[in-house]
This record gives sequence, C-alpha cells and structure tokens, in this order.
Amino acid sequence: MTDAEAATIGELARRWGANENAVRQALGRGSRKKRPAPARLPGAGPARYDVAVADRWWGWDEVPHGTAAGYRYHRCRCPDCREYHRAEMAALRHAKLYGDGGPMSPAVRGRILDAVVGGASVLAAAAAVGVSHQRVYAAARALPDFGVDLNAATRR
Ligand SMILES: [Zn+2]
Repeated sequence: MTDAEAATIGELARRWGANENAVRQALGRGSRKKRPAPARLPGAGPARYDVAVADRWWGWDEVPHGTAAGYRYHRCRCPDCREYHRAEMAALRHAKLYGDGGPMSPAVRGRILDAVVGGASVLAAAAAVGVSHQRVYAAARALPDFGVDLNAATRR
C-alpha cells in the first residue's frame, strides 16, 4: 500500500470514527486472512508462540517447513522445523567432538586403540590421552567402526 493510500485510510478512519483495520476491511484490503491452524503432533501440547509468529507474518504455506530458512528466517517452531534444527545441532556437535582437532578426533581415537591393543585398559588408555572413559564409550556407541575396533582390541 502506498503512503497516499495509507493517508487516505487514516483520513477515512477519522471521518468514519472507525479504526483503520475496519476501514481496510471495508475497502477490501483486509488484514491477512486467518490461516488454518498448523497440523500438530499428537501430545505436542499447545501451539508454541513462535509457530504463531511465523504464521502471522508469512502464512503457514509460505514457510518452507523443515529447513534452515523455516527455522531461522521465518522463526517457525513447528515440529518439522524443530526437528530440522535438532538434527543440524546434533550434526554440529558430532563434527566438533569427533572431527579433526576435536577432543575425540581420529588421531586421539587411534592413540586410544593403540594403547588398548598394547594391553592397557580402556580407563588407562583414556587417562593417557587426557579424555574421560565416558567419552571413549560414547564414541564407541556413536562411531560404529571405532566401537568394533575397540571391542576387538579389548578382547585380545
Ligand atoms: Zn515450520
């Protein structure tokens, strides 16, 4: 809507003694149509306020749900967008922990395996490289290859 139109609507509102939204509606430029409520997962509880925010500004169908744009730009918190964000954050944590330079990088895992193959306990091997044994066991669960190797090494 142009400034001229907005001014006209303000003017009409004063003239009619109505508020501007009523004038817009009378002129057929109503505020957004009410959208149907987004589909909810069973047991997901009441709609979150951010779903309402995304819905008010863009409309449910305009938001690319389950994508970075849906979660960040449109600030949608529907189940799909939350699931996208959860998976993205998990992947980031995984990369930080197990990637090069991380506390459980491939080099660190190699040193642990070498120590265990050499007869050390997992506890001693973990202490030797400066990580907790919980982290070693978590890595064995999160990285199947490492888990198999560690299992084989402890059975020698
Ligand atoms: Zn969404």
